[in-house]
Amino acid sequence: MQAEIVVLPGDGIGPEVTAAAVQVLAAVGQRYGHAFRFEEKLIGGAAIDATGEPLPMDTLAAAQRADAVLLGAVGGPKWSDPKAKVRPEQGLLAIRKALGLYANLRPVKPHPAALGASPIKPHLLTGVDLLVVRELTGGIYFGQKQRRADAASDLCEYTVTEIERVVRRACVLAGGRRGHVTSVDKANVLETSRLWREVATRVVRDEFPDITLEHQLVDSMAMHLLAKPREYDVIVTENMFGDILTDEASMLAGSLGLLPSASLGEGRVGLYEPIHGSAPDIAGRDIANPYATILSAAMLLRHSLGLESEARCVEKAVDGALDHAVFTSDLAPAGRGVGTRAATAAVLEQLQ
Ligand code: ATP
Ligand code: MG
Repeated sequence: MQAEIVVLPGDGIGPEVTAAAVQVLAAVGQRYGHAFRFEEKLIGGAAIDATGEPLPMDTLAAAQRADAVLLGAVGGPKWSDPKAKVRPEQGLLAIRKALGLYANLRPVKPHPAALGASPIKPHLLTGVDLLVVRELTGGIYFGQKQRRADAASDLCEYTVTEIERVVRRACVLAGGRRGHVTSVDKANVLETSRLWREVATRVVRDEFPDITLEHQLVDSMAMHLLAKPREYDVIVTENMFGDILTDEASMLAGSLGLLPSASLGEGRVGLYEPIHGSAPDIAGRDIANPYATILSAAMLLRHSLGLESEARCVEKAVDGALDHAVFTSDLAPAGRGVGTRAATAAVLEQLQ
């Protein structure tokens, strides 16, 4: 197949880790006979420096035409002056909104060779394979905000349509996995959560008879996620709960450098990025872990291009590199560990 992939390296380690993922995509494309075309564009601080805007029109237009977008990370101390009018993160929020990406997927599957990197006891982590689906465009983050001299408020609002579409997406994903969905809310207190629970119950009952649905209150979910993470398959929740739970879930896998993500909408174009940030402290030194971005490229193959075998091939190559203890310094004992390029080369070798 032919595919147009827009690459947004961004800031900090973004250019290093996206370069690694592009190499892997090119290699898997060649192996399976696909013609992937890569178009590099500016976003974040790099875009502010070059154009004054965190998301230039030209970048957005390219993303809207593309089949998929691969992003590194945005931000860094150079652009973090709180008085600044434009900030790198605005570019990310703007592109998510413009592409209508309402479902953020974060799979967490700790690799046996990297269990020691997690603060959780290894025996609790064996066999963990879960996927958090976070609603990305609604809720309290986007509600009306008000400030008075002695008070402030943030409105939390969800429409039936917003809940339906993300619950449907979670159910479809669960259908390709173990068929279990845990919907997380705070229905004992919040009206938006009562609506969330009603809609989730109806969507699963009417449209997904083969899916088992369980409801969980967000506070107890936070506890269970650490106490019995193996019991979860797909977890679907609203924007802020998802924000908090996905950071918590990332600790199950140990390093930020291992965790990919996908942000999807109704259209085919999705945005794929590692969950970590631009890591300015290690940028430009060939020490960043490229695996999270390479695994994000695997999600791109799966969700935007529909290339499941190719996606698995990339995931197996990363597994193989980890099996051979090809660890970057975030995974290796102090002072050891290979560089970004060496880790990428190990993945490319596994692809052969
Ligand atoms: P953001 O606000 O952009 O999400 P952050 O403040 O969460 O950024 P990160 O940039 O994710 O921070 O970095 C957090 C720490 O993890 C840093 O010490 C960084 O060096 C480290 N880190 C992040 N990504 C990687 C990676 N791919 N490989 C190795 N270390 C990483
Ligand atoms: Mg962060």
